[in-house]
Amino acid sequence: MDKYLKQSLSIDAAKNRRPTTRRPRAAAATASADIEDLASPSGCRAVAGPTTAAAAVRAELLRWYDANRRDLPWRRAAEPPAGSGSGRGEEQRAYAVWVSEVMLQQTRVPVVVDYYSRWMARWPTVDSLAAATQEEVNEMWAGLGYYRRARFLLEGAKQIVEKGEFPRTASTLREVRGIGDYTAGAIASIAFNEVVPVVDGNVVRVISRFYAIPDNPKESSTLTGELVDPSRPGDFNQAMMELGATLCSKTKPGCSQCPVSSHCQALALSSQNASVKVTDFPRVVPKAKPRSDFAAVCVVQISQGFGEGIAEAEGKDNLFLLIKRPEEGLLAGLWEFPSVLVNEGKTDTLNRRKEMDKYLKQLLSIDVARRSSVILREDVGQHVHIFSHIRLTMFVELMILNLKDDGEELCKEGPDSTKLRLINENAVQSMGLTSGIRKVYNMVKVFKEKRLKEQSQVPTRKRSRRLK
Ligand code: SF4
Repeated sequence: MDKYLKQSLSIDAAKNRRPTTRRPRAAAATASADIEDLASPSGCRAVAGPTTAAAAVRAELLRWYDANRRDLPWRRAAEPPAGSGSGRGEEQRAYAVWVSEVMLQQTRVPVVVDYYSRWMARWPTVDSLAAATQEEVNEMWAGLGYYRRARFLLEGAKQIVEKGEFPRTASTLREVRGIGDYTAGAIASIAFNEVVPVVDGNVVRVISRFYAIPDNPKESSTLTGELVDPSRPGDFNQAMMELGATLCSKTKPGCSQCPVSSHCQALALSSQNASVKVTDFPRVVPKAKPRSDFAAVCVVQISQGFGEGIAEAEGKDNLFLLIKRPEEGLLAGLWEFPSVLVNEGKTDTLNRRKEMDKYLKQLLSIDVARRSSVILREDVGQHVHIFSHIRLTMFVELMILNLKDDGEELCKEGPDSTKLRLINENAVQSMGLTSGIRKVYNMVKVFKEKRLKEQSQVPTRKRSRRLK
């Protein structure tokens, strides 16, 4: 414990305070729970007895969790049915925990509830998911972002089905594609009752405050592991995460209602010294500034020239060209409108169009200008999309083409026809397009509606250009 106290005394917020290793008031006032017992190696080894401080923390935390936990669909799914034994029931719970935990990474609970329910209705078992296609999974995932997660879920499901059984321990779960320490710990402890820790950002914050460790503690996993309740590991882990997500929030912790406040070292330090706040723990590390990228995006709409089959399809005048992104890297394997990166100093219309024409020619192996007449080509506007490490400014233009010959052949002529697709408006709505691409599409839609309105106010013979 002395080590953590020394660290905590070194933080900026504590610089006006005289260092002390005296037991904090709040902790000293508690007869059954001494924080130092929890953190010292000897204290950790002694946590098995019901009268120890660790046992008191577990009991208080679990009592609070039982009374206050949020009713979430994946928690219901993870509950063992009355009288059930081991086997498929546990595997079913493991699948539910896995899907929910993957969705919850980077996404807020209220958003996940809806996605989770729809996902489980469509693919209620790992076997049913393994039979899905990447396209179907992307469609379901559309709007959740971080599409790598969806890809890994599918690949992981295929791996598990091929193996014939759901891995039951954290170490074997980590062998599944896309499952890291966090997800492995969650599945193993919640579904299979393994006594392993689950450490997400919320738990790191709780542990940092609980032990008054100012820097993001590498020992979080070890410290949490030493606290995990041996009889209810899954509930304990969920209780820690729930505490971090609700009471022990980043900026406004509700310490007065916290079930473990009498053991909390940061709270004890703050009560000793007014210049120390519990929110000083953990120390905030400034985020690296995202890189700025610029892209020319061309929404290519094909207006005419289709054979009978496609002409019969709904929205024949509103077919859009989509391109599949490479299978590796940002937004891997997802569909988008033709996009090309441009340098920051070359985002003017002339240069963007030059780059886009070059790209389309290379992409389709045809000269679009020769094979078609351009009915309309106009800038629509800009959209900024923020990825975790990139700030992408998209310069969006709409190009409506009237093909001079059979448009059906258009996508077959590219170097790789599997990466090109013409879709109608309905498909744009239902496909697994990223939220950035959807916003681009909506911008174009609004632009066209505005232009149509303008045109309707002009006498017919004066209309030089047509919008469908
Ligand atoms: S007492 Fe406050 S700071 Fe400490 S764990 Fe509880 S909510 Fe977090």
